Amino acid sequence: MPNNNEYNQVSVLVVGAGPAGLATAIQLKVLKPDIDVCVIDKALDLGNHNLSGAVLEPEPFHALLDAAKPDWRDTDEAKDVLANVIDKDDIMFFLGKNMAFNIYKMLKLAGKFGVGWSQMIHHGDYSVSISKLTKWMGNIAKEMGVEVLTGFAADHVVVDGASVAKGVKLIDQGIDKEGEKQPNFVAGETIEARYVVLAEGCDGLVTERFIEQAGLQRESTQLYSLGVKELIKVTPEQYAKFTPGRVVHAMGYPIWTPVRGPGMFGGGIVYAGAKDHLAVGMIVGLDWKYRDFNAQDALVRFKEHSFVKPFIEGGTVVEAGAKMIPEGGYYAIPRDPATQSIGKANVMILGDSAGFVNMLKIKGLHNAIDSGIQAAKAIATTENDPQRAAVEYTTLINGSNVAKEMESAKNSRHTIAKFGPLQGMPLSVLGSWLPKFKVEPDYEMMTTAPYRLKPNQNFDKDTFTAVAATEHREEQPAHLKIVDPTICETKCTPVYGSPCITFCPAGVYETIHDEVKAANPSNCLHCKTCQRKCPFDNIRWVAPEGGGGPRYKRM
Ligand code: SF4
Repeated sequence: MPNNNEYNQVSVLVVGAGPAGLATAIQLKVLKPDIDVCVIDKALDLGNHNLSGAVLEPEPFHALLDAAKPDWRDTDEAKDVLANVIDKDDIMFFLGKNMAFNIYKMLKLAGKFGVGWSQMIHHGDYSVSISKLTKWMGNIAKEMGVEVLTGFAADHVVVDGASVAKGVKLIDQGIDKEGEKQPNFVAGETIEARYVVLAEGCDGLVTERFIEQAGLQRESTQLYSLGVKELIKVTPEQYAKFTPGRVVHAMGYPIWTPVRGPGMFGGGIVYAGAKDHLAVGMIVGLDWKYRDFNAQDALVRFKEHSFVKPFIEGGTVVEAGAKMIPEGGYYAIPRDPATQSIGKANVMILGDSAGFVNMLKIKGLHNAIDSGIQAAKAIATTENDPQRAAVEYTTLINGSNVAKEMESAKNSRHTIAKFGPLQGMPLSVLGSWLPKFKVEPDYEMMTTAPYRLKPNQNFDKDTFTAVAATEHREEQPAHLKIVDPTICETKCTPVYGSPCITFCPAGVYETIHDEVKAANPSNCLHCKTCQRKCPFDNIRWVAPEGGGGPRYKRM
């Protein structure tokens, strides 16, 4: 169990050791080598909770490392993590299970006429493992003198009045299921800090609590998607046939097809990973309407598609995982109504926690790193007045590529959410000419309709979670709470048939003696889909003890 006694007071406390938070720490050490910076993360080890596509646009990352570690290109980590430079970029449209059209050239041409979807072209970017990238960044931060502490789960920002943050309270460790202290009990301390940087990733617990505490508002509700991904070991011949510099993005079947539906937003990916490994995934907007839909079923269909199958057939899934992506874009960035700052006073919100995903690319990794750099600059320039940090950070973001991208993509996801992929995608080409359409929270979109492309067999969630290597201490309070069980019994089960049992990628929910329960919390992958897709908004996810959760190493 981590001992946090030594770090109960720091200048800068970063919650979340992902690319955004670590970029803040690294850039800050470049600008102010003597400043004390502490980064905490709930994962057991660096990179364990980081899962993504992941295509990395190089510019902000190169700029960060050029300043921090000029010889980084010669390191073993650079040669490993950045080994796959994208030189083949397939953008496919799958029409049914055997037909595929490559629309790359069409999109490239469309780009000449300013059509936003051409931003999906990724030539020259890297295809990376985000868990490896995170581990590498964490080690650079440590070399520069940053305290990077894993196994620390944060609970909330401690505020003084409505605005000034005093620090962050960690969660208690060593409590049993009944709430009693066990012999290993350690009270969660408050780490005091002059600056608090929230970089927890999508739907962060501390961030969402702070948004409420500080009265921040979103112009439009946040929308989410769920990504499920498998890393598959294939034969050297299959890998060579795919080629190491290739990424495939596919839209259409099995989540939407013209006329017959199902009309869901998202698509499949196939990325080259390390030698003889391919990453295959499916990303689906959480505004799906099918009561019995599970993104893993769509992944099965995707893997069976005649375009994908030859590359992975006979392969072994060596790692798997799930995570949500914030898709609401520009209108869903949480801001202080008085100043429009992304955060408040001495608290800044970064990366996926702020929702900096460019929906024309469906990518946010570069924006996360860029936002981390801007947060560091804001801290460096407000040392005498930390309460100005969030305003300064927002000014820097507004002048950066992050704001430019978020602005350019601001109507795309909303238009699709409003009209569905078939009409919404072509309409979204009009980009900034479109008005802002009102959208509803994802959980309100559930209907009683069934998903018509379900595979014949139930997806094997046990194997999926086994290769995610997720673990939690069994004897701790459940971190998934069904707010009102009578809603499950009287409203959800009779009407929708308890969709959480189906859509949870880890099989956490079960019916036991006619009651829906979070029966297997130790399987949880921390994707938080259940708290955003329960049709009655009846599930809450709270942080379990530090060190619990998936143990991604190559995702
Ligand atoms: Fe995701 Fe909720 Fe299932 Fe955990 S219980 S894996 S957060 S859907």
